[in-house]
Amino acid sequence: MIIIAGSCSMESEEQALKLANQLKKRNIDYVRAAIFKPRTDPNTFQGLGYVALPALKKIREMGLKTVTEVVDPRQIDPVYDHVDVYQVGTRNMHNFSLLKELGKVDKPVILKRGLCAYMDEWLKAAEYIEKGGNGQVILCERGIRSFDVITRNVLDIGAIIYLKKKTGYQVLVDPSHSMGHREFVVDAAKAGLAAGADGVMVEVHEEPDRALTDSKQTIDLPTLDTLLDEVEWEKVPHDHI
Ligand code: PEP
Ligand code: MN
Repeated sequence: MIIIAGSCSMESEEQALKLANQLKKRNIDYVRAAIFKPRTDPNTFQGLGYVALPALKKIREMGLKTVTEVVDPRQIDPVYDHVDVYQVGTRNMHNFSLLKELGKVDKPVILKRGLCAYMDEWLKAAEYIEKGGNGQVILCERGIRSFDVITRNVLDIGAIIYLKKKTGYQVLVDPSHSMGHREFVVDAAKAGLAAGADGVMVEVHEEPDRALTDSKQTIDLPTLDTLLDEVEWEKVPHDHI
């Protein structure tokens, strides 16, 4: 099982390192370290940007692995030395120039499903990365837009089942962006794993109500502990991306 956890965005070096320390205590290897945030509203917090690179470096020096989203091909090189896993967010699944550039990189790429992407389109997007020579693509189901908006998105459990039966990809479930409300996150993570997902990417914050982004769907550390208990994190093998 793979667990990637951390706040939606890195808010400050202090916040990020404190949280990373809590994750390390729980034997979590992969930390969400988002410094570029694709936001619907251009007037909201856009992420710390390059000034957060020293914090990423420190997280890695703690023995943890960093996962960071890039939203522009020009960001790939400058973050390279501080990143273990690149992430392509839902809004960029069809950003072919970004995918092609990530194809030239020798680090894994988590490719999130586009907001309205057919599975076939998602798999073709993965192929864009692979065609450049990068065979380390991991898919992440993060919910799709559908007619029902009572949850933020609709978690497509069927997609996880399909991908695990029909493709060789590692698949992650993102219970945070799919559900949009923290009270559903533990159950959605478990549902994704039951469907065959190899792991979970989850938003966690020491004080979720104060999180700068995606506060409503962010769980606190006691809830993370519940999730870890329920998936028997201490007993199952910890896999790598
Ligand atoms: C994220 O995981 O940080 C994120 C922005 O998610 P998504 O691209 O799925 O909306
Ligand atoms: Mn988020």
